[in-house]
Amino acid sequence: MADLTFNLQIPVPRDARGFIALRCPRENCRRTFQVLAGTGKLTTEQFCPYCCESADNDAFRREEDLETVRAVGMESLKQHAQLWVHDELAKALQTGFRGSGITFTRGTRPHPPSPPQTARYADLDLETEVTCDGCGLTFRVYGVFGRCPDCADINAFVVLDADLAMSEKRVVMSRRAVAEGDAAMAEEFLWDALAGVVSGFDAFGKELRRHHPTVLPAKPQNLFQNLATLDDALIAAFGQGLSTIAGSHFDALVLGFQVRHLGQHSHRVVDDAFVAKTGLRPELKGRKYPLTPEEAQRAIDAVRHVVGALRAMLTPRLP
Ligand SMILES: [Zn+2]
Ligand SMILES: [Zn+2]
Repeated sequence: MADLTFNLQIPVPRDARGFIALRCPRENCRRTFQVLAGTGKLTTEQFCPYCCESADNDAFRREEDLETVRAVGMESLKQHAQLWVHDELAKALQTGFRGSGITFTRGTRPHPPSPPQTARYADLDLETEVTCDGCGLTFRVYGVFGRCPDCADINAFVVLDADLAMSEKRVVMSRRAVAEGDAAMAEEFLWDALAGVVSGFDAFGKELRRHHPTVLPAKPQNLFQNLATLDDALIAAFGQGLSTIAGSHFDALVLGFQVRHLGQHSHRVVDDAFVAKTGLRPELKGRKYPLTPEEAQRAIDAVRHVVGALRAMLTPRLP
């Protein structure tokens, strides 16, 4: 008797929104992430967003999902096999005893196999969901930063973009508060916006250094908060400093960072260091800096510009 082949396509389990769970195959990583089925590009290999291990797609499958696929597959196979046996047996009996005077009554035919169900797994509650702006893959990771599992692009750029968008929203809210006559609230929104820009840029810088340790120095710790030191590091790495990279945005960048420094360390009050570093507003010494929505917005634009330039310098773009 010839071998029989059944081709069964069993869908991988998904969560309620269609995310497939994957696990890094590297022994000392083994962390889980999720990718949204149908997004990204078709690949045969994947990257771990945490440790950047790359391997065959199949190596990233979770054991529990394979177990589920196997169980669903066996059930489906059983249904196909039962139907096949029933039909073959009926055929054999009818032809084998034709003309013999013996008749057979067929039993009830088994139901045709139903298409294999997509199994659901319980929600994983991963913290960050991002869509890679390199390849369009939507994925979820623990923490905030990770590499895109499809194209290995780091998502630091996407995360910073979200931070900047949040700061922009605060600037808008500040303007609205002014219109509503709530000056105190308007001021809080603006300083918040500026703090968000600087902390977002700092977190982005730390992630960038983690991925480019040969290009950017590990020290000082807050390299991306200290523009003078960052300037030196960029000259060493790319032969061009922050003023060249920032171009016409440079003054707005320096002002934004120095004003934020006042907010963080001197109760928003202008001090000697501020005047020395910016060369601006000596008449404000000892008084609270009157941060404007335009200044906050210009700082956001400046960071966006610098980050765009850094991205072009550091990341080989996809075709
Ligand atoms: Zn890993
Ligand atoms: Zn990608």
